[in-house]
Amino acid sequence: MKYDKVDTIIIGAGVIGLAVAEELSARWPGSSAVLIDRHESFGRETSSRNSEVIHAGIYYPTGTLKAGLCVEGKTLLYEFCDKWKIPYQRTGKLIVAGTAEESASLEELLDQATANGVDDLEVLGSSQVSELEPSVNAKHALLSPSTGIIDSHALMTRLEQNALQNGVLPAYCHFVNAIEPLSEGYRVHFENPDRSTDALECLHLINCAGLQSDRIAALTGIDPAAAGYRLHLCKGEYFSLPQVKGSLIRHLIYPPPLQDLTGLGIHATKTLDGRLRLGPNTLYIPEEDYRVDPEHAADFYCAVKAFLPFIEEADLEPEMAGIRPKLSGPGEPFRDFVIREESERSLPGLINLIGIESPGLTASFGIARLVGRLLGA
Ligand SMILES: Cc1cc2nc3c(=O)[nH]c(=O)nc-3n(C[C@H](O)[C@H](O)[C@H](O)COP(=O)(O)OP(=O)(O)OC[C@H]3O[C@@H](n4cnc5c(N)ncnc54)[C@H](O)[C@@H]3O)c2cc1C
Repeated sequence: MKYDKVDTIIIGAGVIGLAVAEELSARWPGSSAVLIDRHESFGRETSSRNSEVIHAGIYYPTGTLKAGLCVEGKTLLYEFCDKWKIPYQRTGKLIVAGTAEESASLEELLDQATANGVDDLEVLGSSQVSELEPSVNAKHALLSPSTGIIDSHALMTRLEQNALQNGVLPAYCHFVNAIEPLSEGYRVHFENPDRSTDALECLHLINCAGLQSDRIAALTGIDPAAAGYRLHLCKGEYFSLPQVKGSLIRHLIYPPPLQDLTGLGIHATKTLDGRLRLGPNTLYIPEEDYRVDPEHAADFYCAVKAFLPFIEEADLEPEMAGIRPKLSGPGEPFRDFVIREESERSLPGLINLIGIESPGLTASFGIARLVGRLLGA
């Protein structure tokens, strides 16, 4: 790297690091920034292993960052897609209920959504569901018209281009392995692509390292366990269905979410090219492992057969998996995103973003704006 000091270093070129790079470089024209990632290009981890759903902001407790940044981020994301011609579809989504208990949970979701500022939901009876989705079985459903799907690769490509045009330097194939807090700023040590080591100083250090963000925080001297930053890895597998089944539904179809919001329940999403896939499940795992266990097809089939009766178990093909960086461990209650400027820990100018699981893609622009505000940009 040709510099030894810059204004800002962003660690992690997933959708969050890219959105932050774009936002800060636009707010601080002429300032210097480096975007470091260990992979050969952007978006090689969680940001390219997800459902690509633009969430409405229905589920999360009111007042949390997840709720507020999802609702704000959704609007900003649709505006950005229109401006930069990023492919998306406002498919809408149905959360379906097959039992009286599930119908009652839809009422609770409706209240939660309204409190979060999502005011376009509609409760549908079974005949209205049949009109919209003749192949779906449900007694009731909540229709969310503002839910959509997006080409997340095109989104990240545009964010990278904008950031680069604003002067951000990408440093791919660079692995951050040590951080020294200085009297003013930070010295970030990294391994170069040829395995040699180097260091770069900065005033502002933004930790957008996804699954590794607790470890990056630890490199600055923070004890992740004491700070409540320790991450748990929670895998979500997907199974794809034959192309022909994709034409049988138009909306995304979800069951009511899991009680503790570990996940949203195995659901059916569509890709922009019309394919249908099921997932993700929630499996806490000890280390990063992206394999999909074909044996799990039976569980997926059982989870959806009541509301998607046209699916047969033999239709399911293992597709891919992503890993959620979760702050809550198995059985633990809901945890919000951590997005924190660390002056209180005597680490001014350091911003940790930890536990950026779903709805992180949807919230990315809201998150980037919040980082800008935390830095006074
Ligand atoms: C199964 C699943 C489904 C999801 N579905 C949705 C959805 O439909 N809608 C939605 O809004 N959100 C969804 N999400 C959440 C969304 O995908 C994430 O919130 C988002 O992608 C997080 O982006 P990120 O940039 O924080 O992390 P990442 O994309 O993981 O990027 C982090 C980057 O940091 C880099 N890095 C880490 N350590 C180092 C180091 N030491 N040195 C250099 N670089 C380093 C990594 O290489 C990586 O590129 C889903 C997540 C999962 C797992």
